[in-house]
Amino acid sequence: MRRVFDFHGGIHPAENKQQSLTRGIRQAGVPEQLTLPLSQHIGAPAQPVVAVGEQVLKGQLIAEARGHVSVPLHAPSSGVVAAIAERPIPHPSGYSAKCIVIDCDGRDQWAPLHGVADYRDHEPTQLLERIRAAGIAGLGGAGFPTAIKLAGKPGASIRTLIINGTECEPYITADDILMRERAGDILAGIAILRHILHPEQVLIGVEDNKPEAIAALRSAAADAEPGLEVIAFPTKYPSGGEKQLIEILTGLQVPSGGLPADIGIVCQNIGTVVAVRDAIVDGRPLISRITTVTGEAVAAPQNFEVLLGTPMQYLLDLAGFQPEHCLRLIMGGPMMGFTLASAAVPVVKTTNCILAPSASELPPPPPAQACIRCGLCAQACPASLLPQQLFWFAQGKEVEKLEQHNLFDCIECGACSWVCPSHIPLVQYYRASKAEILQQRHDHEKAEQARLRFEARQARIVREEQEREAMRAARKAAAEQRARQAAAKGSEDDPVQAAIERAKAKKAAQQSGDAATPEQQAAAQLDALRQRLEKSEQRLAEGRAAGEQEKILVALEATVQRLREKIAAAEAAAPQPETH
Ligand code: SF4
Ligand code: SF4
Repeated sequence: MRRVFDFHGGIHPAENKQQSLTRGIRQAGVPEQLTLPLSQHIGAPAQPVVAVGEQVLKGQLIAEARGHVSVPLHAPSSGVVAAIAERPIPHPSGYSAKCIVIDCDGRDQWAPLHGVADYRDHEPTQLLERIRAAGIAGLGGAGFPTAIKLAGKPGASIRTLIINGTECEPYITADDILMRERAGDILAGIAILRHILHPEQVLIGVEDNKPEAIAALRSAAADAEPGLEVIAFPTKYPSGGEKQLIEILTGLQVPSGGLPADIGIVCQNIGTVVAVRDAIVDGRPLISRITTVTGEAVAAPQNFEVLLGTPMQYLLDLAGFQPEHCLRLIMGGPMMGFTLASAAVPVVKTTNCILAPSASELPPPPPAQACIRCGLCAQACPASLLPQQLFWFAQGKEVEKLEQHNLFDCIECGACSWVCPSHIPLVQYYRASKAEILQQRHDHEKAEQARLRFEARQARIVREEQEREAMRAARKAAAEQRARQAAAKGSEDDPVQAAIERAKAKKAAQQSGDAATPEQQAAAQLDALRQRLEKSEQRLAEGRAAGEQEKILVALEATVQRLREKIAAAEAAAPQPETH
């Protein structure tokens, strides 16, 4: 029998799972309207490819992945796109975000689906593309795009595939019921993952508080290829954490800040594995999921297969919601879940549970007291952190110390808060600090990118100025060269030199004109005109001989004509010498 290991810390909160396991999975049906946030996964939100008023079919692509870490979105039922706009989403902040809203037509009519007859005929890359195109993100709660996780790091080989059948939150039973009812589909999904990853071993880890699920998996696994084991281990919270489960099943620890792939391991959630099977075998995109609806404020706790985008209020009503008994609604479990601002928000890919507890069942925590340094939080922490110290650093916003004390290894399991006798909401401080640090990193990256852009622009401006300067220098050198050549040849052919000489002559004439008689001035002017005429006639003759353009010749002829007329006028007006 395989040895199982233990991880540091952990707690044993009271279980409340039986309530929702008295019935099988129930189809929730089609509500009147579906609201689909464009971001139901980690990474860039999907980009709508439909317009308001457009008719869509069930399974049709309505938003495509944008960027590497992103997944597309599909219509969960047929109908008409009623809006693409901001709507409240299930998020701890209570924020709104962009959603595609579909008014369902009730026909639930499928778009054509294209599964593959035998996945073994397809390359792993082709199967990964199908998984990505089906919009599959981790259904365990994190929502990381599955195809990216399966693709792993280039060159890193996967020795162990771990299937996470652990469901340690006290109320959630969505995976438990799936293992009981669809163990065959889980094994079919695992076979596809084995074809993609070629691991040496596959370990399905399930806590021992799910004997029916373990039996169903073991029965289905009897026909599976060798190298696959269903491993039961003692129930403890939070065994479902990826790093904790890896340690339980293999004894290996994922290095701080590292990924399971760094030690040759990939983990996938049970629900995700079924979604992979549905995408490859049936060609069915991810448009629904199993969600537990439970708590003392619902009359009939149970698990639903629910279309994504279904209003939580619709699901709660199916389970016999009694709002008068409910103090707050929680998405997820009491340990890691968060309070919802409204029951109008939709079910999304990560909605594994809607918990409607009564006031006595989950009373509001009493006011926090001062830390008494009892150390219980450190004993409970499964990540071997020092929660009390992290708390001080978080309060003081000492970012560097938080990072030095491995804040980002915190899996936000809430075990420290659970055991704290002073009722300090420790995990909330860590969440806030992480968000702040990530925002700071993001801002720093943006500032760095802006700095690099600015420097590149400055460098380009300097380079362009240098190029312009070089061209100016080259033009100047060429002009000087031409001038030297013209000077050597004589100034007659050089129009610049000729102009300079004309100006010199004019100035000299003006200077000398002051002292000359009117007859002398007229004679000098006539002389100058005759010289210009001579040059213009010569230029015209050369132009004709060289076959220059017609318009140039016309202009030269006009100049010659004008000079002739000026000379004639000057000759006529010239003062006659006096006769005595
Ligand atoms: S459990 Fe609470 S009181 Fe005890 S050391 Fe940790 S933070 Fe302080
Ligand atoms: S919430 Fe973080 S610090 Fe607290 S016990 Fe869990 S992992 Fe440790």
